[in-house]
Amino acid sequence: MEDESRVGMGFDAHQFAPEDAGRPLMLAGVAIPHTQGLAGHSDADVALHALVDALLGAAALGDIGAYFPSSDERWRGAASGAFVTAAAQALAGDGWRIVNVDATIVAERPRLSPHVAAMRVSIAGLLGLPVERISVKSKTTDGMGFTGRAEGIACCVVAMIARGEPGDGR
Ligand code: MG
Repeated sequence: MEDESRVGMGFDAHQFAPEDAGRPLMLAGVAIPHTQGLAGHSDADVALHALVDALLGAAALGDIGAYFPSSDERWRGAASGAFVTAAAQALAGDGWRIVNVDATIVAERPRLSPHVAAMRVSIAGLLGLPVERISVKSKTTDGMGFTGRAEGIACCVVAMIARGEPGDGR
C-alpha cells in the first residue's frame, strides 16, 4: 500500500472545580499538585481528551463524545487514559500507526513546566511510542480570558498518523 499520512487536531477545556471538591488535577495522565482539580464527568483530563480527539480526527473516526458520552455512567470518574488506549486501538484496527503528538496546555496556574517531562512519558506510555515522538508544551494567555483568570485549563493537540510502508523516520 502506498504510504499515507494524515493529521488531526483536538481541543478541550474544563473549568476548575471548587477547592473543597477534593478533585485531583489530572493532566496527560499525571496528578499535578494544585489546590483545585478540574470539573468533569470523567477525571476531566483536558490534555488526554484533546489527544483522543486529535487521534480520532486524524482518522476521521468521529470524536470523544461519540465513543465515551458523558451521559454514560460507566465513564463517571473514569481515568481518561482508557479513552486514549481505546482511540489508539480504533486507529490500529484501521491500519493506522501514530507518528507523533504535539500538545499545548494553556493554564495560568499551576505552573506546568516542571511537569512536562512526566506528561510526555505518560502519553508515550499510553500510546506505546518513544517519548521523543511526544511533545508537551505549557503556555499562559498573559492573564487574558478564562484561562488567564484561572477559571479553567484548555489544551490543543495535533497528532500525525500514517499507514502503509514506514518511510524515513516513521
Ligand atoms: Mg473533556
